[in-house]
Amino acid sequence: MTERKEFQIRFDARGCIGAGKCAEEAPEHWSLNLSTGIAEPQKPIIPEDELDENIRAAKACPARNGRGVIRIYDRETGEKII
Ligand code: SF4
Repeated sequence: MTERKEFQIRFDARGCIGAGKCAEEAPEHWSLNLSTGIAEPQKPIIPEDELDENIRAAKACPARNGRGVIRIYDRETGEKII
């Protein structure tokens, strides 16, 4: 039996500059809280079929001089995806 792969979103809210690119790229997964000006992921753990959109969001994040503040890890192996 193969288990579904899961991925963990790690988001450094302190580095978020509220640019909203994540929510533009992946509106079903990221939203910008207008009262705090900080983004929020919909959920910390995502299945594989939601990985691509979250990778796009992570790549689009311009914070920290373009390095971004969204990281995604393979939950099982701990491998950093982005
Ligand atoms: S793209 Fe990055 S800086 Fe912009 S709101 Fe999303 S997490 Fe924050």
